[in-house]
Amino acid sequence: MAAPTKLTYLDNAATTRCDPRVVEAMLPYFSDVYGNAGSRNHRFGWEAEDAIEIAREQAAVLLTAQPKEIIFTSGATESNNLAIRGAANMYAKSPAGSSSRGHIITNIIEHKAVLDPCNRLIREGFEVTFLEPGHDGIITCAAVEAAMRADTILVSVMWANNEIGTINEVPAIGALCHARNVLFHTDATQWAGKMPVDVERDQIDLLSWSSHKIYGPKGVGGLYVRRRKPRVRLEAMIDGGGQERGMRSGTQNVAGIVGFGKACELCFASGDSERARLLALRKKLDTALPAAMEAVQVNGHPDRRVPHITNISFGFVEGESLMMGISDIACSSGSACTSASLEPSYVLKGLGVGDEMAHSSLRLSLGRWTTEAEVDHAISAITKAVNHLRAMSPLYDLWKEGIDLSKIDWQSH
Ligand code: PMP
Repeated sequence: MAAPTKLTYLDNAATTRCDPRVVEAMLPYFSDVYGNAGSRNHRFGWEAEDAIEIAREQAAVLLTAQPKEIIFTSGATESNNLAIRGAANMYAKSPAGSSSRGHIITNIIEHKAVLDPCNRLIREGFEVTFLEPGHDGIITCAAVEAAMRADTILVSVMWANNEIGTINEVPAIGALCHARNVLFHTDATQWAGKMPVDVERDQIDLLSWSSHKIYGPKGVGGLYVRRRKPRVRLEAMIDGGGQERGMRSGTQNVAGIVGFGKACELCFASGDSERARLLALRKKLDTALPAAMEAVQVNGHPDRRVPHITNISFGFVEGESLMMGISDIACSSGSACTSASLEPSYVLKGLGVGDEMAHSSLRLSLGRWTTEAEVDHAISAITKAVNHLRAMSPLYDLWKEGIDLSKIDWQSH
């Protein structure tokens, strides 16, 4: 039997391989140390609780926060929901049913796990401003400042975008919010663990991040909740046993939390050298692909991007056909985040990338095990596939002949 083709995994923004050291740290917490961390009367419970508190410290070190400021959740989706809905409901200016309960600022290129809670809040009587990025994909502090109102409760701006990797003006937005006594939440799912975080210096009140994007297990994540200057309070979304300081009831996922803590510790330790390694690989993709072919564009700001994500459009090919042409490379297309539907990515559309270029885009995202040989392979495989598809494209031929495609009257042809 022929050996299966080795897949090159370039979809680390979707999820990462769990680090074997993380798995090893988790294993005892399934069948050896299996107590409920809430059982206060015996050693089984104490051991589980101790393990969770070690993980809380590891998570806090990653963010330069205090352990008590870390709430464990099921992932960044839950953290975003708890931060946004929890803060809005706690700090609402007026009761449910009155005309406006308060104002929230976010933007159109957030993950759905921010957009949907904001849309829910609109239905519940809050007003939300959705900022638009510039063509470079950046949400600026100036844009947030211009949208601020006397009744603004909360600003939620992601640190790095998950589709294009662009970095928003987070420390500046944090400073602005603190100067105006407005709470600041950031979805740092594509940032924390990859880039340095200091919640004091960066003036963040609420920060969401996820274990499975940083080589930990799926189904666990964290929410940083500032405890002083200001002390942030949240209305819980899940009530019950009062775990996680009452903000997230439910028996803790001890093994998952232990793995998440270990993943935070490993990311913190790999810091600068890993960032430099990934940046060199990403820059290779960003320069080699446009150099190899015409009509190739890197989406979003050229430099203000996290090291592990790039998003590139290949004119005159369709993303899904391109993905089929590079079947030994696992990555996402410009339509990926809206999953089954073939809508072009709302993020790319949000930056003003046209439908065609959005449909023809690939998100390539790198991780701890990505090698230079894999990046080289991706460059040659993508180049080959694009050239092959263009060889069958009449539009590409017309464009090569210098015909302006936007001026063609297709009806009369
Ligand atoms: N926010 C961002 C920016 C993300 O990239 C993701 C994962 N795609 C999420 C939130 C959701 O994270 P989780 O899978 O942990 O719920």
